[in-house]
Amino acid sequence: MDQQVKKRQRSCIGCGATLEKGRLLRVVRDGEGRVAFDGSGRVPGRGAYLCSGACLTQARKSRKLERALRCKVTEEDYDRIQRDIEQAESAGKNEE
Ligand SMILES: [Zn+2]
Repeated sequence: MDQQVKKRQRSCIGCGATLEKGRLLRVVRDGEGRVAFDGSGRVPGRGAYLCSGACLTQARKSRKLERALRCKVTEEDYDRIQRDIEQAESAGKNEE
């Protein structure tokens, strides 16, 4: 699927910045069409990447997440993903 990307770099769908996969936040659409933040980065399904919660806000405004995941993303989904990303970001800061 992504075998042509050898260094595992991904682009943020909000700002377009390219970063290593491990440094981006992943949002995934699973086999049942549910959209969620994937903190582990290992949930199978179609993924979209963001570098921060601010970029999710950008992607929400321009509906880029829907385009990246090729499915409908509801307001509830966006709210939930936003909350989860905020939590993940504050947890990450505590580790430093
Ligand atoms: Zn970004």
